[in-house]
Amino acid sequence: MFLRDAHNRTIRDLRISITDRCNFRCFYCLPNGEPPLARKETILTFEEIEYISEIFVGLGIEKIRLTGGEPMLRRNIENLIEKLARLKVQSSKFKVQSSEDENPQSAIRNPQLKDLALTTNGFSLPQRAESLKKAGLDRVTISLDSLKKANFQQITGVDKLDEVLQAIEAAQRARLNPIKINAVVVRGRNDDELVDFARFARENDLKMRFIEFMPLDAAHGWSREMVVSGREIFDKINAVLPLKLKETSRGNETAWKYEFADGAAGEIGIIAPVTQMFCGACSRIRLTADGQIRTCLFSTTEHNLRDVVRGGASREEIIEYIRAVVLKKEPRHYINDKKFAPASRSMSFIGG
Ligand code: SAM
Repeated sequence: MFLRDAHNRTIRDLRISITDRCNFRCFYCLPNGEPPLARKETILTFEEIEYISEIFVGLGIEKIRLTGGEPMLRRNIENLIEKLARLKVQSSKFKVQSSEDENPQSAIRNPQLKDLALTTNGFSLPQRAESLKKAGLDRVTISLDSLKKANFQQITGVDKLDEVLQAIEAAQRARLNPIKINAVVVRGRNDDELVDFARFARENDLKMRFIEFMPLDAAHGWSREMVVSGREIFDKINAVLPLKLKETSRGNETAWKYEFADGAAGEIGIIAPVTQMFCGACSRIRLTADGQIRTCLFSTTEHNLRDVVRGGASREEIIEYIRAVVLKKEPRHYINDKKFAPASRSMSFIGG
């Protein structure tokens, strides 16, 4: 059967960090290039990622998102995408011969990957959007934290706003739809640009995602005062460009989604993990570049799937291991508790 945790949540969404390296130095993530990079031999190979993904899809995972670090820094990422895209085609390899009830360790019947996505800073997308699409990538999420050149550089540490804007256009041309744009909103850094971002989404028919700043930065500079709440983000945009809630339930999506009340193109999504926790509907699990399963962004422990796979475990043993790990998924995060302890690794390693 499906992957289900101890709190009755079904796991459908796998986020795979394929590298811990990044060529941006966003102050809220990896400002100085710390912590030290993982040793090369600990990083999962494409073949290992393919094998693990295939097992996960057999267990009901429907969405895979490749992330990092900056995933486009991994050489020949198109080859990996080609391998994973094959999981979208129903494969006889997955079909379970005996009934699920007879053999609960087996993969479920006729599983299929439905969505293959990539989160990127866009740096090399202008040249590669077409080849990614051709390899089988469905869609991209591009990070963009400022529309002003100087502010973009202050936030990301690089002078690459023009390239990121070109990346968005290239993704549109390559039909890597729906294209989402992620902006982490931080008090005093880019909260004066909320309406500009909303206009940008309208004018370019994009799905804008505003994300509350979470305590996942390598430099441990996060403070509650820096968080701009989802409510405030909504109010500031709504006062100028009235918004209408799209769906009253967000299912297991992270964002509350809004359309423009005047019917203009584009969409606004607000992701508020700090002030409006959505753990009860979480369907996500993460695999780090060095093959550790993380059951929550804020986990303080990891589960070493790499060693299980490299140690020669059989497919059934790997499935059993994954099921046992999923049962340990945390009921919720503890950002707002006094006892909150920061995650064992920063976002650049975990993969956003
Ligand atoms: N390098 C890619 C990129 O820039 O999109 C993928 C990795 S990045 C870690 C994934 C997403 O996590 C980005 O949209 C980034 O803005 C977000 N992120 C990183 N640190 C964060 C934090 N402390 N709080 C909220 N979002 C964060």
